[in-house]
Amino acid sequence: MTARPPVRTVLMNPGPVNTAQTVREALGGPDLCHREPEFGALMTRVRRKITAVCGAGDDHTSVVLTGSGTSALEATLTSALPENGGLLVVDNGHYGRRLYDIASAHGIRCVRLELGWGTPVDPDAVGRALGADPGLTHLAVVHHETSTGMLNDVAALASTARAHGRRIIVDAVSSVGAEPLDAVRDGIDWLVGTANKCLEGMPGLAFVCAPRSAFEELATHPSRSFYLDLSRHYAAQVKTGAPAFTPAVPLFYAFEAALDLALAEGVASRGRRYGALAGKLRAGLTELGLSIPLDPWHRAVSLTAVRLPDGVPYANLHRALKERGFVIYAAQEQLAAGFFRLSTMGAMDERDIDTFLAAFGQVLPTLREPAAGGDSR
Ligand SMILES: *Cc1c(COP(=O)(O)O)cnc(C)c1O
Repeated sequence: MTARPPVRTVLMNPGPVNTAQTVREALGGPDLCHREPEFGALMTRVRRKITAVCGAGDDHTSVVLTGSGTSALEATLTSALPENGGLLVVDNGHYGRRLYDIASAHGIRCVRLELGWGTPVDPDAVGRALGADPGLTHLAVVHHETSTGMLNDVAALASTARAHGRRIIVDAVSSVGAEPLDAVRDGIDWLVGTANKCLEGMPGLAFVCAPRSAFEELATHPSRSFYLDLSRHYAAQVKTGAPAFTPAVPLFYAFEAALDLALAEGVASRGRRYGALAGKLRAGLTELGLSIPLDPWHRAVSLTAVRLPDGVPYANLHRALKERGFVIYAAQEQLAAGFFRLSTMGAMDERDIDTFLAAFGQVLPTLREPAAGGDSR
């Protein structure tokens, strides 16, 4: 049998993203025992590069987990709170709500500040909620709310948390690597990210970056999970230089290659690259008559939520574009019926956007369902 030649599909879903060839090739590195010093050295390099991408230095460190972004969020939420700790969660989209669901699943005391999807967060309102309940030791917030494409001002929220003597946990899963975010400058206590979104690595690794002192404190907290106990992973990875459990070894090869590319490009330049692609995409869609409801100044560089054109079912749009080499992404929950999402993260360039807009312009007139009263349904 002859293999079909590889066809590049442009992934416009917000992760896993298109990767560079060096990242894909690194995946096929040598077989390696995770208890040998070679793996310890690889893991340590990956952890250091993660810390650097997060804008932090030697006072901080990072821990890598084998799992998707949610594993690192669950590890952080279940480990960072002391025995009688409580969590205030800012909810202005699907992923904010999910932080609440994760903490609640472990019986953590949790209060949800429900703002409504796509509503900008008012730091003063968060400050009032913290002030009203001294038992809320931690604040959790999503940086880029991937359900709407809204970027939340985590630096302002970190300073609100600090002013009230609370710690902040940031879900930076879909922002770290491209959006302006700096653990030190922005005063982020716990920064959680993943390999396969703006860092352009392979799916299957996630991480947590925090001050070393914060990791040290974890030993005094109750262990609410065995596998996702961040204190256990910190002790193993940082203190003994070996992983707690069997890690996804080949993904570490690929992640190191991706981190090297990210550090060489720089977070600010990557943000400008994504921003330029998003700008071109948004202008082109607007020209085609589509509407992007979120105010421009709230938009992340890596995602655009677009209103579905009248009479065009999402499934038909998805199918027609996939046939032309582009994977678009459905919207979630309350936005599912009327919207779709397009990501500009990953190894993507201007030609991809041009080709996408041309394909979109071609398929659009063919997709509208017959107006009500038609009999072809
Ligand atoms: C993708 C994403 C996650 C994690 O999803 P996984 O499927 O577990 O990787 C969490 N938060 C945000 C904001 C995300 O975009």
